[in-house]
Amino acid sequence: MARSVLVTGGNRGIGLAIARELAAAGDAVAVTYRSGEPPEGLFGVRCDVTSTADVEAAFDKVEAEQGPVEVLVANAGITKDTLLAMMKEETFTEVLDANLTGAYRVAKRAIRPMMKLKRGRIILVSSVVALSGSAGQTNYAASKAGLIGFGRSMAREYGSRGITVNVVAPGFVETDMTAGLDSEAIVKNIPLGRQAKPAEVARVVRFLAGDDASYITGAVIPVDGGLGMGH
Ligand code: NDP
Repeated sequence: MARSVLVTGGNRGIGLAIARELAAAGDAVAVTYRSGEPPEGLFGVRCDVTSTADVEAAFDKVEAEQGPVEVLVANAGITKDTLLAMMKEETFTEVLDANLTGAYRVAKRAIRPMMKLKRGRIILVSSVVALSGSAGQTNYAASKAGLIGFGRSMAREYGSRGITVNVVAPGFVETDMTAGLDSEAIVKNIPLGRQAKPAEVARVVRFLAGDDASYITGAVIPVDGGLGMGH
C-alpha cells in the first residue's frame, strides 16, 4: 500500500521537488500550501505552520484522505535577512517561529500516530548555514541549527518505536528563495562549481524516507556541493 506522506511548503521550490519525487516513487503525497492553488496531481491542504490550529486541521484532512502520516518532511521555511545590529526582535522571532517552531508543530502532531504505527520517517530540511553561520542570517542560521538539536533529540526519543529522524542540509539551491542572491560570488566557494537543482535535494530525501535508509537516524546529510565541508 502507498505510504501517507506530508511535505510542508510542498507547493514550490525544494518542497515541490520532494513531493513529486516521493509521488513518483509510489507514495500518496500531500502538500501544504498557503495561498493560490495546490500543485496539480498532489493532495493540497491549506496550512500556515505558524498556526497550531492550521497544523491540526491539515493533519486531520491528510489522515482522512490517505491515512496516518508515515513520512513527514518539514520543509517550509523563510528568510528575513539583515545584520544583527539592524535586526528587530520580531524579525528574529518570525523566522524562528516559521522554521523551527513550525517544525516542532508538525512533528509533535505527527509523532503519536507514528508511535501507534510503530514506524515513521521524519526529515527536517535545515541548511549548510546551520553549521557554517552566515552574515546577515543570525535568525535563519539559528533556526536551522535548532532543527539539528531538535531532530537528534527526537531520534533518541523515538528510535525504539521504529521512527527515524534525519536532517538534510542543502547548500545553494535554485529556487525563489535564492533568486535575488549574487550567485557568481557564492558559486566560487562551491567545490562542485554550481548551484543545486531542487531535484538533487529531493532524491536524498527520497533515500532517507525509503528502505535503504533503515539504519540511519539522527544524521545530518549535507547536499551542498562541498560548500560546508569540514563541519
Ligand atoms: P521557497 O521560498 O522557494 O519556498 C518556501 C516554501 O515554504 C513555500 O512552499 C512556502 O509556502 C513555504 N512556507 C514558508 N513559510 C511558511 C509557513 N509559515 N507555513 C507554511 N508554509 C510556509 O524556498 P526553498 O524551496 O528554497 O526552501 C525550502 C526549504 O529549504 C526551506 O526550509 C529553506 O530554508 C531550505 N533551504 C533552501 C536553500 C536554498 O538554497 N534554496 C538552501 C538550504 C535550505 P508559500 O508558497 O505559501 O509561501
